[in-house]
Amino acid sequence: MSQQYYAGSCLCGALRYEVRGEIGDVVQCHCQRCRKANGTAFATNAPIKKSDFQVVQGEQFLKSYQSTATTQRCFCSECGSPIMSIKADTPEYYRLRIGTLDTPLAQKPMMHIFVDSKAEWDVICDQLPQYPERP
Ligand SMILES: [Zn+2]
Ligand SMILES: [Zn+2]
Repeated sequence: MSQQYYAGSCLCGALRYEVRGEIGDVVQCHCQRCRKANGTAFATNAPIKKSDFQVVQGEQFLKSYQSTATTQRCFCSECGSPIMSIKADTPEYYRLRIGTLDTPLAQKPMMHIFVDSKAEWDVICDQLPQYPERP
């Protein structure tokens, strides 16, 4: 049984949120859009229920960018920290960027996804399952 309360915040601290519920399977997403949005080799994301998520400070700083016809990426407009994405086909879930959590997370990443579009310089050094796209 995983923990039921998590706190998180952006880099500048203007934006603070809580998750009161389960954090789902953690994935390392190597898609180009995640790489661009984070400036990194991959994004570390996990689904949470929208109803478990609440901004507790700085709601006005949470801005969103429509990165595809079906995906919105939400970030802090002050410091640019990516917070979550929302997909039109699963609007009841947010995909949380778990690097913004302040509460320690017990679970470990489960898989690498969108490995077909990973950066050519990136070397995956663990034994987790790898999927060409979303499995
Ligand atoms: Zn911020
Ligand atoms: Zn991605």
